Amino acid sequence: MSNDMLAIINARVVTVDAQGTIIDNATIVVDENGLIREIAPGPVSHTATNVIDARGGIVMPGLVNAHAHLGMTLFRGLGDDMNLEDFLARLMPAEINILNHDAVVAGTELGALESLLGGITTTLDMYYLPDAAQEVAVRSGARIFSAPNLLESDGPEPLSFDARMEWSDTWLTAANAAGNDSLNWLAPHSTYLLGEEHLLRIAALAEKHGAHIHVHASETVGEMKLVANRHNGRTPIQVLADTDLLTEAVLAHGVHLTDEDIELIADHNASVTHCPASNQKLASGTARILDLHKAGVNVALGTDGPASGNDLDLWLAMRLAGYAQKNTSHDPTVLPALDVLRMATINGAKALHVDHLIGSLEVGKAADIIVLDVDSPSLTPVFDPHVAIVAAAGRGDVSSVVVNGRVVVHEKRSLTIDHALTVQRVRELGSQVMAAVEEVERSRRK
Ligand SMILES: [Zn+2]
Repeated sequence: MSNDMLAIINARVVTVDAQGTIIDNATIVVDENGLIREIAPGPVSHTATNVIDARGGIVMPGLVNAHAHLGMTLFRGLGDDMNLEDFLARLMPAEINILNHDAVVAGTELGALESLLGGITTTLDMYYLPDAAQEVAVRSGARIFSAPNLLESDGPEPLSFDARMEWSDTWLTAANAAGNDSLNWLAPHSTYLLGEEHLLRIAALAEKHGAHIHVHASETVGEMKLVANRHNGRTPIQVLADTDLLTEAVLAHGVHLTDEDIELIADHNASVTHCPASNQKLASGTARILDLHKAGVNVALGTDGPASGNDLDLWLAMRLAGYAQKNTSHDPTVLPALDVLRMATINGAKALHVDHLIGSLEVGKAADIIVLDVDSPSLTPVFDPHVAIVAAAGRGDVSSVVVNGRVVVHEKRSLTIDHALTVQRVRELGSQVMAAVEEVERSRRK
């Protein structure tokens, strides 16, 4: 008999499968490879010694954060009450001044701790020194997809654009040799921070390795103007299409899209990662999620970085995503709970090209599972679990978190990351971070 790794019993399983199946009073059995072997009502025979009793509470897929900058936890709360342009002018030089491998490890580990405790099991990350994020991924058990970030300035690495391309070539060669799809990515920052010639070179490199693209696009009115000026009146989406970067790309934000942009996105099978908390805080606008859905575009959900969104809370993102569309369309029937929940799970998995592996609870998929606290006041009573998840649940309701069959959070405590040490390390970097931001402000006033 095989050695089952884990069983979750007495579960109200919200599968987020194609039919939106919910299985009451069920058992989930995870095999020795971390894959779901069985989901069935009632008791199921298994050999696992590790058993989580959900006591009738909601058990659901781990959340997928399809756009984040985890290391930016270091700068949390330092870009408030300002628009994107002022935010970037203030924080980008400060990042370049103080970031090194250890600082990014510290920031990312705090981000991973916050993510896991809040039910996020997979993150598409975009940040400097991505080796640091991978170090944290291995240690914490969190799935962190990362990539060399490409921009024209040297960054904290520091690397010139040409050196950055060489490094990217080496990174992708290693990712493919290891068969690690979560590293087979390139992250050109945006079409406002990169010229056409650079974008074309990035596309050629991606083509060479079969790498996926993660890029900021069409976030603010200011960006639209910058891109039009830099790229002959075109939109960011047109530029990405013209430079062969749009196909199956993950487009972070996609707030300001023309009808033609939406058609281009659909035709190229690209995904949009909607980041409603960041968009609302920076007053960037409201994304056309309903129009994207009508065009058949896959829309995932993201938090953006903890300096622009301030936290890594996908429950808040779900709530804001649904409510903003209802409110702006004056129609409370749009974006029902299950559609929003899909955005935070299976659609994120699709965007990351891993929907065969994660994003829903189905036999054969990896066991990326979260268990909600059955005694939570805000989850009492639960008549419709989809509604409860999207409209009432929050990070504090996450009781256990499983990634690939491994229990990483149990009874709301991290088992893989040293909580106290991680918080303390970032706290200690605080004065250095503040000094770097103040220095930038002084030179901006000159
Ligand atoms: Zn971003």
